Amino acid sequence: TPVAITARGRDEAIPDFVLVSLRDLSESRRLERLRADFVANASHELRTPLASVLGFIETIQGPAKNDPPAIARFLEIMLAQARRMSRLIDDLLSLSRVELNEHVRPTDRIDLVPLIGHVRETLGPSAASQGVSVSLDCQEPSLMVAGDRDELIRLFENLTQNAIKYGAEGKKVEIAVTRDRSNPDREEAVVAVRDHGPGIPPEHLPRLTERFYRVDVVSSREKGGTGLGLALVKHIVNRHRGRLTIESPPGEGATFTVRLEAVASTESAA
Ligand code: ADP
Repeated sequence: TPVAITARGRDEAIPDFVLVSLRDLSESRRLERLRADFVANASHELRTPLASVLGFIETIQGPAKNDPPAIARFLEIMLAQARRMSRLIDDLLSLSRVELNEHVRPTDRIDLVPLIGHVRETLGPSAASQGVSVSLDCQEPSLMVAGDRDELIRLFENLTQNAIKYGAEGKKVEIAVTRDRSNPDREEAVVAVRDHGPGIPPEHLPRLTERFYRVDVVSSREKGGTGLGLALVKHIVNRHRGRLTIESPPGEGATFTVRLEAVASTESAA
């Protein structure tokens, strides 16, 4: 890069500076490119439903002007597309909020046991309407973590919703909540969401939590996905200093496991 070469040419005695400068430049370039890609992707995702809405408005004003049944049908489609844009914007805003605060670890004391129970209850009816049952296996009376309630709900809702959406063929989604005491330095709350659907081909796993990355774009769109759910999941887990693992052995569905540091029920979560 011109800047770095100039610096090197000017003073051979500060190779450290040159190295640092090069690193900083490439890092900031990388971030810049990521940001540009992100804006391009987000615009594209919004433009598709918007183009459809605009097209239907023109049709309603023109060729379909005197065709009430057609107008009713087009309005339904426009409503669905407008909802899609609204979901996308909600997810974009949530993602940017979580990312902005990623360096601040949330400190409210949250009991995961009722929280996960709540998530299961919220999603139960929509799962049942697709013929999917959601079970919850939890032997702990309570399991405290330091966290942000809304974000944790969002996190487990996203994982459970995905298991219902993409694992529906397996008919069964299992959530397991356990306490792991095997690490003496860090007791952990472990939440595993498992489905018995088609799973995720291994070549997709490394990129699955990237924004807008989907294994199958058409299927994601049909199921109302925005492609931002797992990116949000990843950032929420990061903000909570936790760990996310995704396993999908061939033919065995998918399991998403979140590990968060457990805090004693009396301990303040500072
Ligand atoms: P989307 O809004 O498309 O659901 P996500 O970020 O939540 O976006 O997920 C990204 C992609 O990961 C999905 O489009 C889907 O291809 C894949 N995926 C997520 N969860 C599962 C699952 N439980 N089983 C199979 N594929 C999944």
